[in-house]
Amino acid sequence: MRPTFMHCFDVQPDFEAYVGGERGPLRAVFLEQHLAGCDACRAGLARLQAVVDALETWPLAAEPAHLKARVKAQVRPRPALPRLLTTAVACVATFSTCSLTHCGRGPITLV
Ligand SMILES: [Zn+2]
Repeated sequence: MRPTFMHCFDVQPDFEAYVGGERGPLRAVFLEQHLAGCDACRAGLARLQAVVDALETWPLAAEPAHLKARVKAQVRPRPALPRLLTTAVACVATFSTCSLTHCGRGPITLV
């Protein structure tokens, strides 16, 4: 096994996203570097890919004809929040996050 700066437990959570093509290019490069030197992770990723490939061959079941109408009948449109309220909630959430992450480092200075 060739040493890499990432451990198996660092890259294994990315397997599913990697197989699904959802992992960002930088994480994919890190994963591929690790895979180049780790037999165990290469085998694990190959097993996951085999499962995904097998699942993609399964036919999709069609939904019962009455199901779509029943679901649509039970879904009600949610009233939209006024734009000012949405903006205020976003500001409070941002300030709260800044306050929590800046805790104990003195006053917050906006630049
Ligand atoms: Zn590994």
